[in-house]
Amino acid sequence: MSLIMLKDIALPEHFPLPQPVSAEALAADNQLFDRVKDAIVQHKALLIAHYYTAPIVQRLAEETGGFIGDSLEMARVGKDSECTTIVVAGVRFMGETAKILSPEKTVLMPDLASECSLDLCCQPEDLKRVKAEHPNATVVAYANTSAAVKAQSDWIVTSSLAVELADYLKGRGEEILWLPDRHLGSYIANNAKTDVYCWPGRCVVHDSFDPSGIVELKKAHPEAKVLVHPESPAEVVALADCVGSTSQLLAFSKQDDAPSYIVATERGIFYKMQQACPNKTFIEAAIAPQGVTLDGAKCPWMSLNSLAKILECLEGDAEQKAAHTITVPEDIRRAALKPLDRMLAFSAALKSGSVPQDL
Ligand code: SF4
Repeated sequence: MSLIMLKDIALPEHFPLPQPVSAEALAADNQLFDRVKDAIVQHKALLIAHYYTAPIVQRLAEETGGFIGDSLEMARVGKDSECTTIVVAGVRFMGETAKILSPEKTVLMPDLASECSLDLCCQPEDLKRVKAEHPNATVVAYANTSAAVKAQSDWIVTSSLAVELADYLKGRGEEILWLPDRHLGSYIANNAKTDVYCWPGRCVVHDSFDPSGIVELKKAHPEAKVLVHPESPAEVVALADCVGSTSQLLAFSKQDDAPSYIVATERGIFYKMQQACPNKTFIEAAIAPQGVTLDGAKCPWMSLNSLAKILECLEGDAEQKAAHTITVPEDIRRAALKPLDRMLAFSAALKSGSVPQDL
């Protein structure tokens, strides 16, 4: 097996991180909770929130019959829901995925500027060129990509399915062009023991976890187990007692019997972990010095999901509503739907215990 890191790909030198929200602004925003809750109920909207959103957004989803999950679960729930208005609290590719799967529904997002650094690392025109250079490779795109990139891909996958899909494709004798996360690409190549042409993108949060800082935390908390998301560097993954997607890390913390955990993923997950395991201690993994632009393990774009913006999605004037509405050009939507449907079919087949060879 080998990992072939793709060269000649221009990555952003700096990511356009949004300004952090002040404590005063956050406190004022939190005052809107009951009003936003009423608006969601009145508009019969479904709030789907990612685990990385702020605790108050997750609580809002809980108290309005909404849903909290990882990007695969969010995609499924949005598709299966009977609600015609969906508010996706997360980052933009999650809203786009909901719209691709449910074109007849109105998909709103608190802030359409909620980027993801992985998405920003992979531009559709670069993928077109790289595909031409590797015409025989099967293009496997991480869910954290734009609709235009998904439209050029053979498969979409989330971190909860990535190794299984690589195994499956290896069994079919296919070589993989993986994008856009370098660390997850490396993790897939190592675990599925297959060759991977890998895009060199990175998540600003997970790429910043610091192995030596985690070793120090382990010394201070020898009883703690280490939970790591595979978007983290290999040196961090090597320290893990459990590596997995957010849902898998949450499930592990529930089933396992350690009293405490050092968690190397975005801090929003602590809300659900602490709720599920009130007697356990969850400790945020250390961030490397070069990650000082970050406020700890906090995704700057996930923080854009404020209550005020959710309210504006639902009760703003026509112009405001338009500024919160996800649209995807129909030709791109149709092309992106194929690999997304394949992912959902693969996930369902895995669960049933039998994956056909010709998905
Ligand atoms: S935590 Fe990383 S992968 Fe997740 S949305 Fe933020 S930048 Fe993207």
